[in-house]
Amino acid sequence: MSSKVGPRVLIPRAEVAFIVARLAAEISRDYHDKTPLLIGILKGSFVFMADLIRCLDFPLEVDFIRLSSYGRGTQTSGTVRVVQGLRSKLPGRHVLVVEDIIDTGTTVAFLIEYLKKKRPASLKLCALLDKPSRRRVPVTIDYLGRAVPDKFVVGYGIDVNEKYRNLPDIYYLED
Ligand code: 5GP
Ligand code: MG
Repeated sequence: MSSKVGPRVLIPRAEVAFIVARLAAEISRDYHDKTPLLIGILKGSFVFMADLIRCLDFPLEVDFIRLSSYGRGTQTSGTVRVVQGLRSKLPGRHVLVVEDIIDTGTTVAFLIEYLKKKRPASLKLCALLDKPSRRRVPVTIDYLGRAVPDKFVVGYGIDVNEKYRNLPDIYYLED
């Protein structure tokens, strides 16, 4: 990608792959005998989820939930709604939420509370990226890829106005 004010590479694809493999090793240690249910938050986590589960060599299941988020802008609206729910039954399951990036924490804090009410056997969070400087709601990230600066990132499933999800590297947008 090359344009004067266009995106710049923040995390090249080789580093992304390295991070995903390391997360998969951590998750394998904890879940190899638990047949976990991995729940991805749509749409941003779908590329990460696809790569992550292909590094996991044990029985598992995958589901997705869609939450309202930024809409078409780059600011969070503050209120979160379930736009497309789960098909899986959660009671007794070992649930691992898979998220692309944690910013204020609003989205994932909402989802954790929502899922807790469904009585899973355990509930943990895996996030590829974290912007800790932006946190407004406390969130425990059990498996973290890496922290990033307070910049708007795109690529590897993460969009702005639905564009850039297909980029294999992770970029940041110049403000
Ligand atoms: P929250 O502020 O609730 O933690 O983040 C809400 C959602 O905004 C996340 O699920 C994530 O998909 C999206 N998001 C957060 N930071 C960024 C970013 O830098 N770029 C893009 N494209 N989405 C982001
Ligand atoms: Mg998201």
